[in-house]
Amino acid sequence: MTTQQLWMGGRWEDSAGENVGEVVNPAGLATVATVQLANPADMDRAVGLARESFEQGEWRETSAAARAAVLRDAAGLIEKRLPELARTLTSELGCPLWFSERAHVPNPVRHLRYYADLVEQRDFDEVRTDGTNTSIVVEEPVGVVGAITPWNGPLSSPTIKVAPALAAGCSVVVKPATQTPLTVMALGEALAEAGLPAGVLSILPAGRDAGEALIAHPEVDKLAFTGSTQVGKHIMRTAADRVARVTLELGGKSAAIVLPGADVEAMAAALIPMAFSVNGQLCISQSRVLVPRSMESEVTDALAAAVQALVVGDPMAPETFIGPLVSRAQQETVKGYIDVARTEGATVAVGGSAPDELGEGFWVQPTLLTGVTNAMRVAREEIFGPVMSVITYDDLDDAVRIANDSPYGLSGSVWGGDVAEGVAVARRVRTGMVSVNGAPQSWGTPFGGFKQSGVGREMGPEGLLGYLEKKSIAVPTGSHPA
Ligand code: NAD
Repeated sequence: MTTQQLWMGGRWEDSAGENVGEVVNPAGLATVATVQLANPADMDRAVGLARESFEQGEWRETSAAARAAVLRDAAGLIEKRLPELARTLTSELGCPLWFSERAHVPNPVRHLRYYADLVEQRDFDEVRTDGTNTSIVVEEPVGVVGAITPWNGPLSSPTIKVAPALAAGCSVVVKPATQTPLTVMALGEALAEAGLPAGVLSILPAGRDAGEALIAHPEVDKLAFTGSTQVGKHIMRTAADRVARVTLELGGKSAAIVLPGADVEAMAAALIPMAFSVNGQLCISQSRVLVPRSMESEVTDALAAAVQALVVGDPMAPETFIGPLVSRAQQETVKGYIDVARTEGATVAVGGSAPDELGEGFWVQPTLLTGVTNAMRVAREEIFGPVMSVITYDDLDDAVRIANDSPYGLSGSVWGGDVAEGVAVARRVRTGMVSVNGAPQSWGTPFGGFKQSGVGREMGPEGLLGYLEKKSIAVPTGSHPA
């Protein structure tokens, strides 16, 4: 087995250090790969290459159409590798293969194409006049970007940063999580093959020491982070020292509000994937289900049957819905929360333990907790595993109050027959995204959170704006065509 090198400025290169990580398949615990992990000196070198490429300007100053062509070609190259990449992704993350094939690999391809189209059509200059004075409002790339990503979206989380950043003309250093450092490298390879100039993009899997070197680096103009709220706060504090720009996509504790009159069977069928996909390791997981007190037993029965029916097992098998969690640490965290729920007086209606019949692996049964109150830790803290909590409410105001009674504000959903009523409730929920009756979010709309779920937005035109600075150039009125 060869040890994966670092992707340094557009080519494979050995680390200056000796750190090596092991990627373990969470189902079966075989070693999938060994990888070099960057040290602070590697990070400094990658940032130096990014800065040099940005100042030299080959990428930054090329036309938006030419940048778009590179992104599009890279998308095609990744698409060609879909079957292989999906298998690797499932081996590093543990989510079902069908989900890697339908979402984890195709979505990054779509991100690249989306931002190619967007910048090609965009006018980066706008002339504004107040009748007396005139300015050209110019959009320019923000500079060198440090992108730090979590393990639960091994290819999509880096691409949702790299695609708009490159489309804007930035140079980027990506630091993916050490648990899932394999598929992300395809992004570097594809972009290099598509013609991205040397130095513009580096991808350096690394632990905390090199991560710290990246976030504190004076040559990094913008930090784009997806991960826990705790680390996000640390990054924001570090960035504040030099007023570096930040986009933060952080944790969530989203509420699904079931309205009186909802079709309970249809709701249960549609809500389960929104809570349990990627084994519940999903920032937008609908982990709190708010139910009218009068409907508690009906909704609980429907959800219990649906959770019970989820197939747990080999993530490579087509019938599997729940694979193992990514790591032993994550498994222990989730099991710990189920114990906390019991201690706090909740009932484990379904699941609640690690199945032993599946052999070695970081398994946790999909779990439904009932009798949960919004004051319990399982309702307040992000579990990031296959655990759903049912909480009752008295009336609509109470439902909205409970939904909003959270430090987080990422996502949510409203379930009821009448779409207009659903939208009216959605407007009262203080989160960045809300689904009515399970409708998926349209591509090209902003993704991100209120409150401690983040700052800024990814996806859509908003995702591009995070990589642009605005400059006003005042010109003598009449000298520039309006
Ligand atoms: P994490 O915060 O532990 O780690 C995220 C990344 O930050 C990893 O690459 C990690 O190595 C790095 N990191 C950790 N400490 C660092 C430091 N001091 N300096 C620099 N880098 C550092 O999160 P995780 O466990 O990998 O991912 C799960 C979390 O991500 C959950 O909270 C989840 O909600 C969140 N998430 C949010 C979104 C979103 O879009 N809002 C999407 C996916 C995941």
